[in-house]
Amino acid sequence: MDTKVLTIEEHQINREFIQQAGKFLKEGKSIAFPTETVYGLGGNALDPHASAKIYEAKGRPSDNPLIIHIADMDDLPYIVKEVSEQAKALAKTFWPGPLTMIFKKSDVVPYETTGGLETVAVRMPNHPIALELIRQGGKYVAAPSANTSGRPSPTCAKHVIEDLKGRVDVIIDGGDVGIGLESTIIDMSAEVPTILRPGAITQEMLQQVIGDVLVDPGLQVDKHTKPKAPGMKYKHYAPKAELIIIEGEIDKVVETINQMVLKDKKDGKKSGVIGTDDTIHLYQSQVVKSIGTRKKEETIAKHLYGVLREFDEIDIDRIYSESFKTPKLGQAIMNRLLKAAGHHVIKV
Ligand code: AMP
Ligand code: MG
Repeated sequence: MDTKVLTIEEHQINREFIQQAGKFLKEGKSIAFPTETVYGLGGNALDPHASAKIYEAKGRPSDNPLIIHIADMDDLPYIVKEVSEQAKALAKTFWPGPLTMIFKKSDVVPYETTGGLETVAVRMPNHPIALELIRQGGKYVAAPSANTSGRPSPTCAKHVIEDLKGRVDVIIDGGDVGIGLESTIIDMSAEVPTILRPGAITQEMLQQVIGDVLVDPGLQVDKHTKPKAPGMKYKHYAPKAELIIIEGEIDKVVETINQMVLKDKKDGKKSGVIGTDDTIHLYQSQVVKSIGTRKKEETIAKHLYGVLREFDEIDIDRIYSESFKTPKLGQAIMNRLLKAAGHHVIKV
């Protein structure tokens, strides 16, 4: 397949381009585009063939449902059975933004889009290109992250090109994304609204608007309960090299990582380190990458997937990473990092 790459400035949208891309969506084509969280791979959510194309391009298991992206609140009732007052309050506060809500689906939503479920996930992204594309493309755009299944989600067009060139019709390059982690998912069809995936909108922020909010017990590291969001059970984001998280006081973490790097070297293994701007000068490995700075936790979220991808480009056996339990985004960051590491954590 010949993939067209269109470059669009986020703040200088070329409407003609987007109109054409929208037309492609209506014709059942697949289009990767930027959102504020990560790049999405879009297809007409109400067309089962378009959904099937997305699964195929990503190599995504067919029981892992897609999120439908909308651009206007008025378009929500058509695809869901009912919108509760709580859901309306959350939409009013956080949409457009990094919050996905699960509702009971209406009959117009094909099971191909929901992975066979009676519920549907919906989000309104906060990105001018995404919003315009959705409006031009028929209002309902299914868009999982635009990566090959199992790889880190893409935070810039280069990542999308790496994974999907030749497998999708169009890639819109709209520059780097803002947040860098996928949306928070909250199940509004549950008796008590329940977080199925942590993201930039935290439990505390949700509770401030609607009171009680639970967290899916399946998300907890040591539990063997199956997560409720089908996609959360899959191995994700894992780099090719073995990734190990070292957790504890930062001085001890640095000391331990330096010892382990030295030992690896003696054993003929190549290892690298994920640190921050605040610590990279303290490491004695040949490959040390900074993920951001603890003084601005958003920088850590934004660069996590990019750093994991960078390590895939070099020949390395092992990666040691600091732990990033930062105040607001820490839960979302560690959810992804722990998965990438297969939950391999050394406490010091
Ligand atoms: P992605 O779009 O790649 O970020 O993945 C979408 C995530 O949303 C996956 O983890 C899915 O399992 C989850 N998801 C989508 N629809 C539903 C649903 N109806 N119920 C529960 N989880 C869902
Ligand atoms: Mg994904």
